[in-house]
Amino acid sequence: MAPVRVAIAGSTGSIGRQTLEVISAEPDSYVVVGLSAGSSVDLVVEQALKFRPSLVAMSDEAARERVRDALAGVGGIEVVADATEMCGIADVVINGVVGFAGLPVTMATLKNGRRLGLANKESLIAAGPIVQPLRQVEGADLVPVDSEHCALHQCLRSSVDTNREVARLVLTASGGPFRGRSFADLEQVSVDEALRHPTWSMGPKITIDSSTLMNKGLEVIEAHELFGTGFDDIDVVVHPQSVVHSMVEFTDGSTIAQLSMPDMRLPIGYALGWPERLRTPFGKIDWTQLSRLDFEPPDRRAFRCLDLAYQAGRSGGTAPAVISAANEVAVDAFMSRRITWHQIHDVSAAVLDHSTIVMPTSVEEVIDADRCAREDAERVISGMIS
Ligand code: MG
Repeated sequence: MAPVRVAIAGSTGSIGRQTLEVISAEPDSYVVVGLSAGSSVDLVVEQALKFRPSLVAMSDEAARERVRDALAGVGGIEVVADATEMCGIADVVINGVVGFAGLPVTMATLKNGRRLGLANKESLIAAGPIVQPLRQVEGADLVPVDSEHCALHQCLRSSVDTNREVARLVLTASGGPFRGRSFADLEQVSVDEALRHPTWSMGPKITIDSSTLMNKGLEVIEAHELFGTGFDDIDVVVHPQSVVHSMVEFTDGSTIAQLSMPDMRLPIGYALGWPERLRTPFGKIDWTQLSRLDFEPPDRRAFRCLDLAYQAGRSGGTAPAVISAANEVAVDAFMSRRITWHQIHDVSAAVLDHSTIVMPTSVEEVIDADRCAREDAERVISGMIS
């Protein structure tokens, strides 16, 4: 069989690099046809020389020229500006872009009738009403790379009739570095502490989101968009070992869970291989070493972003776009030490409160909601620090 053609958006980030590791483990099954990055010249050049894609997309103009120069003597690699150009030449596109910037790749992949391995949850969360119809394009498929949603996808594989059989989805959360701390304890936490995730090694934005549980809240919206489950039927349970990645409870009381050690290469490989499974194991459990699995309810008072995201999800329309954008700005401000950890919630809550929520009918309306939320978040932050 011809190898599966893979394009990777955000190839120099955590998801992108791990996708290349998975492909390296099964070089006969997968071939890289496209790589895209923002401005990491050296790494993208190194990746291009190793994997020889036909397209390399660099969004930053200066970086693009440097990549072009570095690959000038190498035949068969075209360097372009727009990552969506890769979406029509691949069988599978892994979208590992960080944040709302991942939307064009999500849309272009589905429009081209290709399989989308979605690690960029923000694009689906913010633009759900616009992205959903594209899933009906012939050949289009959406396989989640987010570990929790990959777990749900796997649990649902055994279901005869998802709509009738599923009682609820249970997303697990590691609880992040601040699990067990009270609201008052969280007043003075530092950026470095927030970046110290106990179980997962991920990029900085998602690691901060894990510390606030905003990541889990956004994942609740993501699960709603992916599987069509109502918000009353999506629950969150804290599970510090990150071995149970999520669960589906069925109407007869049965629960099916997916377990593996925390290793993103498993969900990446699942999306690459779907509907088949990789032959290479990642995150395999050694049952002689695993002695316990703990579960506890999330502390919704200390970690207020969880309910804020539920609120935005229930509002629907542009509310998820607003909360996701405001949170991105707030996380940036926290990482540059302009606001405190608690203020990440306060900024996002204020922006959601100020926003007029509409049901978007075009991608422009979503982009507009995103832009307005970012501007308002900057205003709120300026007010906080002045
Ligand atoms: Mg996740």
